[in-house]
Parts: sequence; structure tokens; C-alpha cells
Amino acid sequence: MIIFLDYDGTLVPIQEFPYLARIDPERKEFLRELGRVHTVAVVTGRDKRSFSNVFGEVPPEIFLVTSHGAKIYRGEDLIANFLDGKVPDLGPLKEALKDLPGTFLEEKEGCFALHYRSFKGDEALVEEAFYRFVRDHPPLKVIRGKKVLEAVYGEFDKGKGVERFLKVTGWKGDEPVIYVGDDTTDMDAFRVVKKIGGRAYFVGERPPPGVDGVLRDVEEVYRFLRSLK
Ligand SMILES: [Mg+2]
Repeated sequence: MIIFLDYDGTLVPIQEFPYLARIDPERKEFLRELGRVHTVAVVTGRDKRSFSNVFGEVPPEIFLVTSHGAKIYRGEDLIANFLDGKVPDLGPLKEALKDLPGTFLEEKEGCFALHYRSFKGDEALVEEAFYRFVRDHPPLKVIRGKKVLEAVYGEFDKGKGVERFLKVTGWKGDEPVIYVGDDTTDMDAFRVVKKIGGRAYFVGERPPPGVDGVLRDVEEVYRFLRSLK
């Protein structure tokens, strides 16, 4: 079985700041063991550095799809690179955000994300700063997540990440595929997985239509994964 797993909100609880979302060592070891039985691929919007900061060294039993499908790793080894977009100079946006304390700009491969979970003021101001920059430097697309706005300059989304992964690893079409994720950015992956006959599992309280299963929280994700071993 091929098991795609989102990271933030799926394998670790959502944190106020992304760098705080460290994985529990026992859970990491469990994922490694799961990777010996199944193909386990973590699919994240984070780039490799940001992911490594919270996950540590990636063991070879675990695949990693970073930046919404920009790069694919097996353990620490880069096995495919689809990074074909360039992020513009974020200077003007950084300048604008100085007046909006609590916002946080995350620079990634082929994209950037503006987080405002800790911003206490009028969120319309954050959106205004974001869209002003984006109008001057048009990305291929804008992704709206939970208290995060993301501008993507490369052709990436988690659905493409899944498709690319299956192609790169030579998926034959007979091996079952599942995807577990919690956020709007996972919906592209859900669509791809459903299209190829796989199953989509949503983590959280309000599942979108068409999912095959709902897992209430991170605890329940691990309970579910243990049942697959
Ligand atoms: Mg997530």
C-alpha cells in the first residue's frame, strides 16, 4: 500500500509557529517501521529545511514530497526535482509586514507563505498587504489555508505532488493508495487519489464531501495507521 501523509495537523498537532511542530520520537520511529511494510510518503507544503527542523533526519524508509510537490526525497536523498519557478524578491512585502506584528513570512522553494495565526489586528490588513505584493509579482496561484496565504510561483500543488511521486516511483496501478490530510491544501491530493481509485481520509471536524473516512485528530491518525501495519 502507498500511504501519503500530510504533516502539520495530521502527524503533529498544529502549532502557533510552524517551527514548533516537532514530531514525537516514538511516532517517528513508528512511521519508520510502517515504511518497512508499506510505502510511506509525507507530503508537505514545507521545504526540506523547514521539514528537517521539526522532523530531524529523514530515515530511508520514509519518502518526502516537499513544497507541494516541488521535490521528492527518499530519506535524505533527493530523487526528483520539479522546481521550475522562482520567487520574486520579498523585500517590499517584508517592509509592509513590519507594521503588522504577529505575521510571519515563510520563504520556501518556489513559493512563500504569509502566516497570521498570531496576528491580533484586522486580518483585512494582512490580506491587503499580501494581495498588493501579489498583484505586482503575479504567482501562478494563491492558496488560502488556515490563517495562511500562500503564493506559488512554480507549478505545484499536493495533487501534482502525488501524481509525480507515483510516476517517479513507478506505481503500477494495482497497489492501493491512501492519503491522509487536514487542510484545504490537501484537497488537490484527495481529488487525484480518488481519481485513481484510492481512499482519502480527512483529519478534523468538518470533512469535505466525498472523503472515505474521517479521523478526529492526530491521535486518531496514529491509531488508524497502526491498524494498517
Ligand atoms: Mg496539514
